[in-house]
Amino acid sequence: MCVFCKIVSGEIPSTKVYEDDKFLAFMDIGPVNKGHVLVIPKKHAETFIDLTEEEAGELFKVVNKVAKAVKRGLNADGLNIINNVGAVSGQEVFHVHVHIIPRFENDGMKFGWRKLEYKEGEIKEYAERIKSAL
Ligand code: 5GP
Ligand code: ZN
Repeated sequence: MCVFCKIVSGEIPSTKVYEDDKFLAFMDIGPVNKGHVLVIPKKHAETFIDLTEEEAGELFKVVNKVAKAVKRGLNADGLNIINNVGAVSGQEVFHVHVHIIPRFENDGMKFGWRKLEYKEGEIKEYAERIKSAL
């Protein structure tokens, strides 16, 4: 059983903030900022793209509810709502989870975004490849 399935079953303790029949939200033990919450489906699936559109929609309904509470309850200035798919993206626990990270002015947290440039015509090529896979 994976670590988050053990949290669902109660075999590993967690600090819960929201629970219903299908989803659970609990505090991340290694927070990027204090108040960092994880939202998971109780049913095991490895990554977000292993969910059906229906399941993903339901998950994000809960993410939306909990995100509002994190923002309001902690008086945060903003949030990062993040989901990693695959080890290459930084996923370490292979049970779908959405990170809700409270952000505060001058909290010192920087995500490593960069801005590449497309060559002539390349942006359309990428869009076409995505569209043809829909
Ligand atoms: P990932 O890198 O897979 O997107 O994120 C996994 C997250 O799970 C990390 O932020 C890590 O701190 C958190 N985590 C890992 N093991 C446990 C645990 O046993 N309990 C809790 N509450 N969080 C965990
Ligand atoms: Zn699991």
